[in-house]
Amino acid sequence: MTGAWEQPAPELERGPNPNVAGMGLPALRALVAALGESPFRAAQIHEGLYRHRWTRWEQFTSLSREFRARLEAGTELRWPEIRESVASDDGSTKHAFQLQDGSLVEGVHMPYGNRTTLCLSSQVGCAMGCTFCATGLMGIKRNLTAGEITGQVVTMLNAHGHQDGEAVNLVFMGMGEPLHNLDQVMGAFALLTDPKGLALAPRRITLSTSGLVSGIERLGAYARRPRLALSLNATTDAYRDRIMPVNKVWNLAALAAALKAFPLEHGERITLEYVLLQGVTDSLEDGRRLAAFARQFPSKVNLIPFNPHEGSGFAPPTEARIGELMALLAARGITVSVRRSRGQDVAGACGQLVRHKGPG
Ligand code: SAH
Ligand code: SF4
Repeated sequence: MTGAWEQPAPELERGPNPNVAGMGLPALRALVAALGESPFRAAQIHEGLYRHRWTRWEQFTSLSREFRARLEAGTELRWPEIRESVASDDGSTKHAFQLQDGSLVEGVHMPYGNRTTLCLSSQVGCAMGCTFCATGLMGIKRNLTAGEITGQVVTMLNAHGHQDGEAVNLVFMGMGEPLHNLDQVMGAFALLTDPKGLALAPRRITLSTSGLVSGIERLGAYARRPRLALSLNATTDAYRDRIMPVNKVWNLAALAAALKAFPLEHGERITLEYVLLQGVTDSLEDGRRLAAFARQFPSKVNLIPFNPHEGSGFAPPTEARIGELMALLAARGITVSVRRSRGQDVAGACGQLVRHKGPG
């Protein structure tokens, strides 16, 4: 559990030509050098790919027609493809992305007025085996590459006609444990926040983890990094062991120590996500212990009523209990919100992102 999946992304099945979608500037420079062009061309391609989000070489009108023809013949420009999109009554849309090796992952587009939140996957499946989570039940297939993670953003922004200047929030709360794939997640973070590219704000990007202390420590060492959310989900080791196997490796005391040591920016807070499972994690004693846990470092609490899915064996809390827990936490000075998960009717909500079968 200490890092079985902290490995480079796999060699993907590729066509005969390199895929530029997801390449950073160094790789683009090497590519244009191999084609006998000046490094300036790499910067132009980079701008087209990430600033303009162009998806076909013919759109790169800053390049000569002749060079475009050579790029067309000698490279691929292929982002993850949307295979299926399901719109929810609440305005959110769940997309199934097909990757180059045929694997399917899911992302969710959630507009709220003048800002949009995109929920991203970091792995095909997940190795962590949390018992309440649909993705956890499917096991792990592989890590996503930085390009595939970035591609979910590019593709969703294009599909929804995103305009420059509209705020975009990203949450790594789709399929996968991002701290099991930190190198590729941080590669995507660099591409996504590059001021000459998509230029997303680092403070609007949140990485959610089930609590891999080794990964939390590695993340804390980066000078530029996403914000941290921890899926706490239980307040005693006995219960957390039962629903989150990772707790047997790093228990609540180990987590608290890692979060206290996590270097925060001025005003930054760690989000504690807490899934409410009726009769399992939603007692008033849980609420009091949750408040005590949260007070150990700058934090805010996000209560997530369980989203039911087939075969889970858990039930959501009552509305009355959600209200009592909110009041209890607020009375103890804790900033608390409830995540009314969106996309529930299309199984796009947290923990419902699962592909039952895919090619490959
Ligand atoms: N693997 C990471 C991120 C993806 S899960 C993590 O576990 O943090 C995103 C969030 O959805 C986590 O807080 C998780 O606890 C929550 N979640 C998983 N299954 C859920 C379900 N069925 N109902 C509500 N929340 C769920
Ligand atoms: Fe993986 Fe997160 Fe689901 Fe746990 S809750 S199985 S870590 S995706």
